[in-house]
Amino acid sequence: MARWKISARHFVGHLQEGTTSAVPESAVISAASAPEVPSKLGQSAHGKSFSEHAIVAVAVLLAFVLSYPPPAGAQAVASTAKASRSPARPKLVVLLVVDQMRGDYVDKFLGQWTGGLKRLVEEGAWFRDAAYPYAATNTCVGHATISTGAFPATHGMVANAWWDRKDQKMVTCTSDPDPSVKNIGYAGATPKGADTAWRMAVPSFAEELKFQTGGATRIVTFSLKARAAITMAGHKADAATWFDGGAWATSSVYGTMPFVEEQAKSHPAKADFGKTWSLSLPESAYWYGEKAFGAVPPDGWDFTFPHPLRGKSGVGEPDNAFYEQWASSPYADTALTGLAEKAVDALNLGKAAGTDFLAVSYSSVDYVGHEFGPRSREIQDILVRLDKDLGNLFAHLDQKVGRGNYVVALSADHGVVPIPEDMQKTGADAGVLHLPELQERIEKALASFNYPKPAIARISGSDIYFAPGVHDRLQEDHTALQAVLDAALAHPGVAAVYRAEELRDRPATQSPTHRAMANSYYLGRSGDLFILPKPYWLMDGTPLGKPRTYGTGHGVPYNYDQHVPVLLMGSGIQPGQYFQPITPADIAPTFAALCGITLASRDGHVLAEALKKPAEGHAPSLLARPKSAPASAPITNP
Ligand SMILES: [Zn+2]
Repeated sequence: MARWKISARHFVGHLQEGTTSAVPESAVISAASAPEVPSKLGQSAHGKSFSEHAIVAVAVLLAFVLSYPPPAGAQAVASTAKASRSPARPKLVVLLVVDQMRGDYVDKFLGQWTGGLKRLVEEGAWFRDAAYPYAATNTCVGHATISTGAFPATHGMVANAWWDRKDQKMVTCTSDPDPSVKNIGYAGATPKGADTAWRMAVPSFAEELKFQTGGATRIVTFSLKARAAITMAGHKADAATWFDGGAWATSSVYGTMPFVEEQAKSHPAKADFGKTWSLSLPESAYWYGEKAFGAVPPDGWDFTFPHPLRGKSGVGEPDNAFYEQWASSPYADTALTGLAEKAVDALNLGKAAGTDFLAVSYSSVDYVGHEFGPRSREIQDILVRLDKDLGNLFAHLDQKVGRGNYVVALSADHGVVPIPEDMQKTGADAGVLHLPELQERIEKALASFNYPKPAIARISGSDIYFAPGVHDRLQEDHTALQAVLDAALAHPGVAAVYRAEELRDRPATQSPTHRAMANSYYLGRSGDLFILPKPYWLMDGTPLGKPRTYGTGHGVPYNYDQHVPVLLMGSGIQPGQYFQPITPADIAPTFAALCGITLASRDGHVLAEALKKPAEGHAPSLLARPKSAPASAPITNP
């Protein structure tokens, strides 16, 4: 079978998607875990004596015990320590990411949902003003942010792909140059490349959970995209699975799982060949006309429903066009749901002594959004189908793990801008910011100065990387630098240009776009200059003279790309609608609080308002550590 890369089409001319201690914590409360460690002289750094610390420690312990009364009295706690421990933490943490789901989709389409999306809103905590506080609203960046609770300035996954200055080439966020690492295919597939999380600068929540609870956690993630499955899992995992070349794949760093092999063989994607994606609701239920204006459907599809999954020619065997159609259809979401359910069954997730972690990133909404735009029947319909899949997934979890034993968070990695030609119909200032033309304009502006030609090594999304030495020289050459900035600002669709020096170390600023750019900046990986497009201007990297091969995109610091849903449901969560402004980086710290662990970064914060208070929820256990923590786990008291 011809090798086929699922996102190949989006790679072409579409820079937004990436051109080419094992000591269990909090379970044991004792004076040994008093807040300060005394110094050698019996004085802490804060000047309190050791005995004062002992008093403080006892007071803290007493206050803790008194403020968390066990439901059935002290005797019950002493005799059923194990029983009282089990409900204290979720048995399973479930992370769901919908790739390219705008926050307003929930408001618009909620009335048509009957399954899992509806249940998340009705039984969960719905954060209605959640938005990314940074500029690089792309897939790898968003997933790493949700997974780590950190912003890209901290976790370092600044784009799906960036310019490697040392090797003078584009690298993807998950590409691993270690020659001992390689990707592995399921069901006989032989994917190329080597993908891991080695470029992610901080551990994921799931990794921290596994490490801090003594290894009892199983980490399992699924997506069509490597950059989603890998960032959600972290550097090590029990299974991280993605789709490549028409088959499921993983990396030697994670290893294979028999249940994935079984599912890959019994339910291959090609079994969906010949199916047809038809409208799920009556015609009158759809918000938009049958033909999305400015859409660029996959090969073999028309602008209107129904969409057959029969490849380019409509007959014969599954071809590249078929896999592209499949990835752009509800059938891929259903396949991911099937894998997640299989993982729950095969590994007994949520049934072991520790807290397990299951994550699914549903990629198809992103493909559909790029092709048909947010104002399309396709987007509305694929969400109706995803709602059904999620309903099935939750029913499966209720049955296998038990309602109330698991906690779910659903969010998105980014939103999307309307197709520019569609937006122009409103009379608004909208358009296409053509990056190759911008590059030409800047090269021309530098032509009268003595700089290498070309002076720009690469423009990738909003990041401009100069050829070696050029950026350093421009720092001293104010006339040439001004010529570059003037040329960029004169280009249609450019609102502002930021220099790297303005973004380093996250400077204090009142400008939301400047702050967003700074939150995205990571030294060594980010560009030398940054283009801020005007609102509703799509940054497009299609080579000169070629037609755009997609409808629209994302990747800028405007609300249509930044505003996403955040929904939490289940163990420890207080249902309701919440309007305070939050970010998806708050999901991991909230999971961490529910599981009693600590994350490295403080970019995100705990969504305390949506947590059940101890009186209404479950008291944390005071006595026992997780049974599964290995006996050899050292409990040191330096
Ligand atoms: Zn995308």
